Amino acid sequence: MQEILDRRSVPDGPEGDPAQLQAGGLVQQLSAAALICLPLGGVIYAGVRLWGHGIGWLDLGLAVGMYFFTGYGLAVGFHRMFTHASFRPARALKITLAIAGSMAIEGSLFTWVAQHRRHHAYADRVGDPHSPWRYGTGVWPQFKGLWHAHAGWFFVANPSEPERWIPDLLDDKDLRFVSRTAALWSVLSLLLPFLVGLAVTRTLIGGMLALLWAGAVRVAVLHHVTWGVNSFAHMFGSRPYRTRDRSANVALLSVLSFGDSWHNAHHAYPALARHGVDRWQIDSAAVLIHWFERLGWAEDVKWPQASKIAARRLA
Ligand SMILES: [Zn+2]
Ligand SMILES: [Zn+2]
Repeated sequence: MQEILDRRSVPDGPEGDPAQLQAGGLVQQLSAAALICLPLGGVIYAGVRLWGHGIGWLDLGLAVGMYFFTGYGLAVGFHRMFTHASFRPARALKITLAIAGSMAIEGSLFTWVAQHRRHHAYADRVGDPHSPWRYGTGVWPQFKGLWHAHAGWFFVANPSEPERWIPDLLDDKDLRFVSRTAALWSVLSLLLPFLVGLAVTRTLIGGMLALLWAGAVRVAVLHHVTWGVNSFAHMFGSRPYRTRDRSANVALLSVLSFGDSWHNAHHAYPALARHGVDRWQIDSAAVLIHWFERLGWAEDVKWPQASKIAARRLA
């Protein structure tokens, strides 16, 4: 626990001055509030509507399909490939994953990756953009910290200079384009289910219901699952590996997070393409990467090696 919020290892720079959280600008505040509240509003309305009306197969299928497409965009693309370079993709796969992840509506590719690299560099210490230990230990500080790590940090100014954190991505013109057009992919992520619903049912209400389930509800669930890895998986769960932070494995989230909630193993070995390193641990993102490799779309995949993994495993 001494490591937590230890200031000594933080270099100079904006993120070196820390415990003083600075509120983001008005635009950031408003977009963060919209990002959190609008999908949740959809969930509440969907819950009310579900009662007595049920949900159609079209809406359910679209919601699940888009959950997987955008979720793998985050887990396989934004996280394992762009942040940690756990494999080298063919160009078409790289662009597809960049777009899929952008359609999860979690901000631009460049911002996402820069923040996540900073998270690993300072995990649970000063400089980490979203540590649940930010306010220290004890019931109230940890409760506040949990909110901060989950979604509160969106309201705080968190400059992660691109030149410092993502020089490799800045060099790629495909990625510059996808990242710059993040708003377009977010809109498309909502427009697509609406148009499919409209085309299939030929009614406006059909389009609106598809937007509700495969738009708002799908986005809300994916948001809270990925944010849950930042918050819960740094506070609760098992810690079979030795790391310098409080990352933990949360089995409960492994299906919905595509394996990203084996977060303790991930912090122990960030570059690995498989986070659920034990045989029984569900990690569907790793299965997908395996298929990409077999199809020749992914090269230099960093798979775990039992002998190396053992080095950090606690008794
Ligand atoms: Zn983490
Ligand atoms: Zn990571």
